[in-house]
Amino acid sequence: MREAFAHVDSWVFDLDDTLYPRSVGIHRRLKERVVLFIADHMKIDLVAAEAVHLDYYERYGATLQGLVELHGVAPRAFLDFIHDIDLSALVPDEELIAALRALPGRRVIFTNASRGHAAAALNAMGMADLFDAIGSIEDSDFVGKPHLSAFSGFFSTHGIDPRTSAMFDDRVGNLLVPHEQSMKTVLVAEPAIRDVDAFEAPDHVDAVISNLTAFLRDIMGRNERLR
Ligand SMILES: [Mg+2]
Repeated sequence: MREAFAHVDSWVFDLDDTLYPRSVGIHRRLKERVVLFIADHMKIDLVAAEAVHLDYYERYGATLQGLVELHGVAPRAFLDFIHDIDLSALVPDEELIAALRALPGRRVIFTNASRGHAAAALNAMGMADLFDAIGSIEDSDFVGKPHLSAFSGFFSTHGIDPRTSAMFDDRVGNLLVPHEQSMKTVLVAEPAIRDVDAFEAPDHVDAVISNLTAFLRDIMGRNERLR
């Protein structure tokens, strides 16, 4: 295994847009549901609702936080509404499954999505039995990544030592606390980063990748070169 990851015994993965590419369209559908929810709740049009969504996403790290704190939205109502989407675009990627299965130690999901969505998405991807545990938004009382409290709770619930763990996420902001807690951090490139080689990663990101399967094979010593 590549030296930088040789000490890792717990492999922590975000779910959406990390274990499958954003291009499959789930992100777009989720976003549509979020905007619809906001428009309906606040009685505003879709353009205004999208602006609210983006604003809360930036300011609170998650749209849900803004809706809870400023509008008293019930988290369960929000989550049930936004996750009511068609997941048929998610299909098993046998190469990725094999690469994940080959990792030494524990594989754990840490998502800001609901437990129900996580289970349904993993099932659709043929990964229902691949992970040792799932941390979902319910587990941190609906205050998820990127907040320290969510990570602290996640570590203690699952007995994870961040010093021997790696975090994979498609949001660069979600990797800041993991880095501060001594996890290895891997950014699964966002679509905005077209040229991964040219992208200058912030100091808190250990690796920027565009192909999770190839990266996992590489750190396991099964690839000639890193990408
Ligand atoms: Mg994600």
